[in-house]
Amino acid sequence: MADLSIATRFVHAGERRPAPSGVPASTPIYASSSFIYERVEDIDRIVEGETNGFVYSRYGNPTVAALENAMAELENGSSAAAFASGMAAVHGALLASELSKGSVVVASSDLYGSTLELLYTVFRPFGVTTVTEDFSDIAALRARAYELRPAVLLCETISNPMLKICDIEECSAISREIGAKLVVDNTFATPYLCRPLGLGADFVIHSATKYLGGHADATGGVVIAKEEFDKPALQGALTLAGGVLSPWEAHSILRGLKTLGLRMERQCSNAERLAAFLCKMPEIDEVIYPGQLSGGSARTVENGIGNPANGAIVTIRLKEDTREASYRFLNALKLCTRAASVGDLFTGIVHPATATHRELSPTRRAALGITEGLIRISVGIEEFHDIAADIEQALKAVKDQNDPLNGSVRHRILNGFAQRPFGSQQ
Ligand code: PLP
Repeated sequence: MADLSIATRFVHAGERRPAPSGVPASTPIYASSSFIYERVEDIDRIVEGETNGFVYSRYGNPTVAALENAMAELENGSSAAAFASGMAAVHGALLASELSKGSVVVASSDLYGSTLELLYTVFRPFGVTTVTEDFSDIAALRARAYELRPAVLLCETISNPMLKICDIEECSAISREIGAKLVVDNTFATPYLCRPLGLGADFVIHSATKYLGGHADATGGVVIAKEEFDKPALQGALTLAGGVLSPWEAHSILRGLKTLGLRMERQCSNAERLAAFLCKMPEIDEVIYPGQLSGGSARTVENGIGNPANGAIVTIRLKEDTREASYRFLNALKLCTRAASVGDLFTGIVHPATATHRELSPTRRAALGITEGLIRISVGIEEFHDIAADIEQALKAVKDQNDPLNGSVRHRILNGFAQRPFGSQQ
């Protein structure tokens, strides 16, 4: 090195030391887009699949691989692929299901709005037709599946925001009967509550941005395949479409995973207590909270907690079922955050009609039960009494129309500004 020019030494100094002899207790961030070998034949063997190794991070990165291995293990799958976002993962799972011109997807009618948008705007022009069905009506779903012969059945373990529980075993029976793939978005349940591959799903999807990461500091997605034979299609969808996860994000999500069990235990218990507490609030018309998560007994419990509760989301409908009332409530929160995401370790509350389901037409929202007074609470790990007290005091604001900065007035003021032509100060 010493005989090389300083400019060259800047480029190479200190790099490419042999791996340390001790095994790092936590997977390091391999912030390297490519990996260097002594002999080109070594690269050749890796690319051919004769030996394991990393060559180029779009095709594989050690930090990302650690997350993929963890998720394959936790979801009892044969392989996993980590994507740059939950939506990239949904896209990847659909590509890996080998949809082609003329394919039909039967999707749950209350899927996450962007997933439906993806099907309608990205897949439709390629000749893929999407039909939505209520996956809680198994008899109707079976009849429709026999009629349409879809290539894919697509649903969520716990739907958003109505928290309907999908009976994955029944859906899997239908998919096997007609030769379709069953793809399950398990974001809201996480492997802590439900592992759909064991119930017959072919692919499981996660938005790792939510509970897996859990700290609102990483965006990512994962798809886990049940069968080894689905691995090449999944890898192709990842590496050729190229929506790979960065090692930095993989590291944050891996770190999040370590406390997923603790967080879920606390968040579910807080949610169960909160649902029971909210049932007593006079400002609330309906409390929606799921019951058991799998098998034929799975059902949604409305207006009451009657069985062992699962999940960390509680949805409420205000008696005053209007946007103004919802905004007054949201703006009055002091501790709980007005966050569009779910699954963070802090409590995040969202107005689905203007956030997660904004893209849907009012008629479609109404058909799904997403009215203007519907509010979704992603319950965090804070002390239960603090969460409950904040929500209780904010509910009081629903009735308080006199505060000039409350939601209804603020909303009207903002609209008023928006309607003025630019340049007009009148
Ligand atoms: N799936 C579900 C159930 C979601 O709620 C979301 C986002 O809210 C996604 C997928 C998309 O995830 P991401 O925002 O990480 O792309």
